[in-house]
Amino acid sequence: MSERKTALVTGASRGIGRAICVRLAKDGFDIVFNYQSGSEAAMETKALCEAEGAKVLAVQADISDSSQCADLMKQALEFGEGKLPVLVNNAGITRDNLLARMKDEDLDAVLNVNLKGTFYMMREASKVMLRQKYGRIISISSVVGIMGNAGQVNYAASKAGVIGMTKSLARELASRQITVNAVAPGMIETDMTAGIPEEAKKKILEGIPFKEMGRPEDIANVVAFLAGDEGRYITGQVIAVDGGMTI
Ligand code: NAP
Repeated sequence: MSERKTALVTGASRGIGRAICVRLAKDGFDIVFNYQSGSEAAMETKALCEAEGAKVLAVQADISDSSQCADLMKQALEFGEGKLPVLVNNAGITRDNLLARMKDEDLDAVLNVNLKGTFYMMREASKVMLRQKYGRIISISSVVGIMGNAGQVNYAASKAGVIGMTKSLARELASRQITVNAVAPGMIETDMTAGIPEEAKKKILEGIPFKEMGRPEDIANVVAFLAGDEGRYITGQVIAVDGGMTI
């Protein structure tokens, strides 16, 4: 890549978001990322990207708040001298329970971050990308949004919603050289899955043809492909990275 471009990645203090930032930094992008509360971890992400030669801006912002999303985009545009070629919607949370026991707050929290946060960031990016007639929007959904999962009705709704938004927005923006895709990870080794009891993990692994969990880098590799020049003719797609879980 001759001239450095900016990528904005949400929720990148750790886990998959961090791996995406580091990979995009390796590929020649400067990085803007946000986090909610993990400022120490965010500084580690920043240092890892800088070690790859990237300029980096780390912003504390809650993506469930539309005004904070607008401000995050403003800061990203200042950093990128008015341009934003790549947005990766990665921030996400879980609040698992069986539906009969699930509280309104568990539904609201998950929809507010995973669905509405992604919506707000997509809307901000659309305005910029329509103007610049170029863009790549990549959102991290989940196999749970495709297959469902007991105990995750709220999360499944949010991740299926991300897929619906991805396909709709892809249709809106395709004629302007803007692609919109989703990546659907299976079981990936991060803090999000660290709390799953060993017995339950064993059971899940039995259902994965690969018989092992994925790594954050497995997701980052696909995001990098979609964000790069080679992804130019792919839009409205959901790419599962799941060791065969959804076969
Ligand atoms: P993680 O390790 O729990 O990290 C989540 C990240 O999101 C953190 O950086 C966190 O920031 C940030 N975040 C949470 N709420 C936020 C908010 N309101 N505003 C801004 N940032 C916020 O999760 P992960 O496993 O890397 O997951 C990343 C994405 O992949 C999520 O969308 C998740 O649903 C999806 N996914 C994960 C798996 C898996 O197996 N791990 C599978 C399928 C899909 P703080 O550190 O500041 O809290």
